[in-house]
This record gives sequence, structure tokens and C-alpha cells, in this order.
Amino acid sequence: MTYLKPIDSSEHSIPVDDIMINGRISAELLDSRDGLSAKKNEFVLPEGVIYLDGNSLGPMPRAAQIRSREVVENQWSNDLITSWNKHQWIDLPELVGAKIAPLIGAKPTEVICCDSVSVNLFKLLALGLQLQPGRTKILSQRDNFPTDLYIAQGLQKILSSEQCELIAVDEADIESFLTEDIAILTLTQVNFRSGQVHNIKKLTEKAHQKGILVIWDLAHSAGVMPIELDQWNVDFAVGCGYKYFNGGPGAPAFVFAAERWHSKLNQPLAGWMGHISPFDFSPEYEGAQNIKQFLCGTPSVISMAVLDAALDVYRDLSIDDVRCKALQLADFFAFQVSQSNELDDLVLISPTKHELRGSQLAYQHSYAYAICQALIAHGVIADFREPNLLRFGFSPLFLTFSEIEQSVSILRKIMSEKEYLKEEFNRRQKVT
Ligand SMILES: *Cc1c(COP(=O)(O)O)cnc(C)c1O
Repeated sequence: MTYLKPIDSSEHSIPVDDIMINGRISAELLDSRDGLSAKKNEFVLPEGVIYLDGNSLGPMPRAAQIRSREVVENQWSNDLITSWNKHQWIDLPELVGAKIAPLIGAKPTEVICCDSVSVNLFKLLALGLQLQPGRTKILSQRDNFPTDLYIAQGLQKILSSEQCELIAVDEADIESFLTEDIAILTLTQVNFRSGQVHNIKKLTEKAHQKGILVIWDLAHSAGVMPIELDQWNVDFAVGCGYKYFNGGPGAPAFVFAAERWHSKLNQPLAGWMGHISPFDFSPEYEGAQNIKQFLCGTPSVISMAVLDAALDVYRDLSIDDVRCKALQLADFFAFQVSQSNELDDLVLISPTKHELRGSQLAYQHSYAYAICQALIAHGVIADFREPNLLRFGFSPLFLTFSEIEQSVSILRKIMSEKEYLKEEFNRRQKVT
């Protein structure tokens, strides 16, 4: 597949000769050269909706819809409990983990699908502290996704501050806090607000130099950015099934544990599914000394089967191509916004440089919530994050350049007509 060179919005260096028609950049031309354009057909998307929220809840792949029917209407209903063997329900956590592995640069035996990101972080933090006798501190970032901080705070509460202490610092101070009294560095690769990217390789190396273990949260990056966990020497990682992997609402998450740690695993949620042989029903817990130890209770089969099918969208894709189109979509969006006088009040807070940015753009505006609601009313689904951020996600498997152009034009109309002042767009809903 060949692509246009990524458009770097920081310099507005769009290769214009290539894509200009009658003095304007042609979204149609960009679409016609998009090597991923056929992927859109693999998704079920409502007519007339431009979905810029695939970073928060991925849309439904057709394969997922088909599998959900198969699991409910055939496997569960006809084959009942025999499905655990007959349809390999029992193996799903490992099978799905193995499917995710190549997308994050891991071995198939290093990844397992289970529980939520939050629960998996608990297992890893508690495990990580045990692997670091004499060290008690967990270093993280103040503006990390809150659940990542809450889980560490919860652990601190049950272990006491002498045994476990969370230190949450500003992004700029992380490196100076990497000292020999830190047990674990836990960060999210892509910041959920700004889209800012951490350099996993560099920070992991610096942490290891001080004997610190790393746990990376890939929730906003797995499926849309090239990730090489083994090459980068990462110890542990977690990630999300319902964002870029399109596994459906509440889809199970995944855990990565580098093979070198498998003989030392001792995660505290010692449920029967993580036992070395669960169907012996032995009264003594003996954890599997492999990735299966991260299982706790019975997997949520319906959800996991849907995620399993959704991941097939990636079967013939290179993540480098996915990343390239994601950057182009975001650059095209940012460029169009920057060229519109009506949008001068929207302040881009995301990094413009490709190597510093994930797959989303965030703009600041005091009416961000109402603007977002007005966009949704016009069929452009974006989201809002406190206190004043309008967030656009660029999930490249189903978005077109024409849709990007259209969404900016709708945004222009909302801003020039001050539609965001309408009362109906200013009423807060429960989920934002
Ligand atoms: C989405 C997200 C989560 C979600 O956690 P769950 O427990 O699966 O709900 C966690 N961390 C980050 C960084 C996220 O973006």
C-alpha cells in the first residue's frame, strides 16, 4: 500500500501539488488514494453519522455482530454447557490474548484477555510490589487516567503507606523522580485528554537503570499505534478491548507480562481460573506459572467472543499503515480548523508533532460541552472532557477524509451561528 506522506500540521507541509483541485485540498482525492478505505465496509455504521469517538467506544464490526448472534442463538442456546469444550469457550482468554499479541509486539503466550483495565492494574501493581522487596513507591503522573491512580490509592489503603505509596507527579517531573526508592513506574502511553505520547522505550530504559519495574497502560494506543513491548523490554502492560479494538461496550481488557517474569508471578486475585489446574478443585491455590495466572473468575464469554471476532478486522493490516492514516486524518482535520476564521476560539492543546501525538486531537473552549452536544445533534459524534475539552478521535479503519472535511464544515456552522448558546446543548447528561 502506498500513502501520501503524512501531513504535519505543525508546519502545514501538506504535499499540496498532489492533492489540490481548483485551489482546494481534495478530500475525494485523499479518499481515492486511501489504501485502507475498504475496511469501512467491515463495520456497521449508522447512515449520516460521522464517528469521531472510536477512541472511546469503537463501532461494531460486522464480524462482531455475526459472532454475537452465533454465541447467543446457537452456542449458548443449543450446545449449552458443552460449549466450554465444543466451542472453546474455556480457551477464549488465551486465544484472544494471542490475537492481540502481534498488534503490541508481544509473544502469543505473553498476553491474556480478562477483566477490566482497572482490575488488571490492581493485579499488576500488587504483583510488582512483591517483585521489588525493599521498595514501596509507585510513581505515576498526576493527569493519568483517574482509574489508574485510584487503583494505586486503593492498594495503598489496604497495605498502608509504609508498604505502598503512590507518588503522582507532573509529566515534566517524571524522569527526575526515577530514583532507586521507586518500585514501579506506571504510565499511560497516550494521555486521554491531550493525546500526548510517552516514549515507552526511553522511559522503560531509564526506569530499568534504577531497578524500577514498568507497567504501561495502552488503553489509548493499542490498535492504532505501532507498539513493540518485547523489543522495548517492557515488564508488564494492560490495555482496553472496547476502544480501538472495537470489542463492544465493556469488552474485556488484556494483560501483558514479559516471559522473563512468568516463573515469579504471584498476582493476588487468586481465583480458580488462574489455578494451575482449575478442574482438580483442590482446596489449595497453586497459581499457573504462565500468563493464565492473570485469570481470576469465569470469563465473560459473550463479550470475549465478540471481541475475538472484532479483532479479525486486523487480520490483513499493518499497524504502520493504520498509524499513517490516523495521522493524516488528524492533520487534515487540524489543518482545516486552522484555516477557518470562525474556529479561531478553539485552542488546540494536543501536540502537533507526529512523534508526540496519539490518535486524537483536543481543543479547548469554554463552551466545549455545548459545542460537543451541538455536533452530536448534527450527526458528528465527538466527546467532551472536563473542564473544557472537545476531543476528536481518529480511528482510521472506518473514517474517510470526506467525513473529516464535512465535520469541520459542520463545526464552522455551529461556531459562526453560536448554536452552542442554545439551552438544550447546555444540559449535562450522566455520561459525557
Ligand atoms: C479507557 C481507559 C481505562 C478504562 O479502564 P476500565 O477499567 O477497563 O474501565 C483505563 N485506563 C485508561 C488510560 C483508559 O483510557
